Amino acid sequence: MPTTRTRFAPSPTGFIHLGNIRSALYPWAFARSTGGVFILRIEDTDLERSSQAAVDVIIEGMKWLGLDHDEGPFYQMQRMDRYKAVLADMASAGLVYPCYMSVAELDALREKQMAAKEKPRYDGTWRPETGKSLPPVPEGVKPVLRFKNPQGGVVAWDDKVKGRIEISNDELDDLVIARPDGTPTYNFCVVVDDIDMAITHVIRGDDHVNNTPRQINIFRALGKEPPVYAHLPTVLNEQGEKMSKRNGAKPVTQYRDEGYLPDAMVNYLARLGWSHGDDEIFSRAQFLEWFNLDHLGRSAAQFDDAKLRWVNAQHLKTMPDEALAPLVSAQLEKQGVVADARLPRICALFKDRCDTTVALAQWARAFYADVTPNAEEHAQHVTAAVRPVLNTLASKLADCAWDKAAISAAIKETLAAHGLKMPQLAMPVRVLVMGTAQTPSLDAVLELQDREIVLARLQAA
Ligand code: GLU
Repeated sequence: MPTTRTRFAPSPTGFIHLGNIRSALYPWAFARSTGGVFILRIEDTDLERSSQAAVDVIIEGMKWLGLDHDEGPFYQMQRMDRYKAVLADMASAGLVYPCYMSVAELDALREKQMAAKEKPRYDGTWRPETGKSLPPVPEGVKPVLRFKNPQGGVVAWDDKVKGRIEISNDELDDLVIARPDGTPTYNFCVVVDDIDMAITHVIRGDDHVNNTPRQINIFRALGKEPPVYAHLPTVLNEQGEKMSKRNGAKPVTQYRDEGYLPDAMVNYLARLGWSHGDDEIFSRAQFLEWFNLDHLGRSAAQFDDAKLRWVNAQHLKTMPDEALAPLVSAQLEKQGVVADARLPRICALFKDRCDTTVALAQWARAFYADVTPNAEEHAQHVTAAVRPVLNTLASKLADCAWDKAAISAAIKETLAAHGLKMPQLAMPVRVLVMGTAQTPSLDAVLELQDREIVLARLQAA
């Protein structure tokens, strides 16, 4: 079998969101799981809407998610000469023809067709046929170039998601493939690229399904067989609308800033249109082992923020603490807080109660920066009656060994000396030392905290 070659071909118009990046994940996964090649191609021919900032987010987002490409990025704007050379070849082979119909004439044609309840389409006025005489060429008008779409018959393909699709050629009019200034149009560039890059599998959003029969006809006119196509159903947002920047979709890189893990994102995005039985949580390696084009879903997938958080929490729990710590450290750094060698153990203690590294950093912060006790909890737990108890504890903690067992013994002795039960002491200590009464076991928390800081916070009561 020839090497599989897939591509992600985003248009850098607006910041790439989760709905778009899924169209990178699947071709990447398919290439990786088949030992193939994954290519990045930037479709930047829409000069007005494309921006370098959008390209940067694409590249940064893919890098963050670990969707590494083997070839590219190729920029369509840098391939103009190549498209023009192919256009020239097609012109000399008689595969295209100039069309001088003006915009006003085209509009009039469309209106006539709409009035007659017909589908608006170019009527072939300028298409040369044997025995047909063409209208006189108007002076001073630059023509567009139209592709001579085959007449009669059907274009068909077996879509890996949608199954067999057949379109009658009579439905397809002669596509404009070069503008009056000679610049090539979108569908044509895609075909030239897919040929030159020897793409074997096109995996893309189903908003392109209407382009596919036209692209297949151009492939064949150029003497090439089209690749395998898989058109992915749309990703809907939580409101059930197509996900887009306009209705609030976030740039991919924002999820990094909000504390999501790349492996969790890959896991979540993978399930947004593909399945492996009922498996919900899996590693990147498992995903690559399981991924194929036979289990792509046919119906639109809906984004679910709570589900994403849950998936992230599952990955956070199982991620090794040594790997987690640098991510938490990066979150702390953004707040100007510097962590130290204790951080992996802090992660171990708190990660079960967190769903993002931002939440974990919030806990870790109490070990490296001042805490402000929650006012309500302070009023409830740090009462006048408990102050002498806190003093007893502080004096015991001042000179015990600084490990869990010794701290636990100091707490128990204090409770015994005052005839109290654990929560009556544990709650105020937590509020003072960690800022909140809801923490893991007190001895485990204190052990990781600096002794002097604990004593200072108890005495500040
Ligand atoms: N540039 C197109 C887009 O961003 C994708 C084209 C393709 O994958 O063929 O929607």
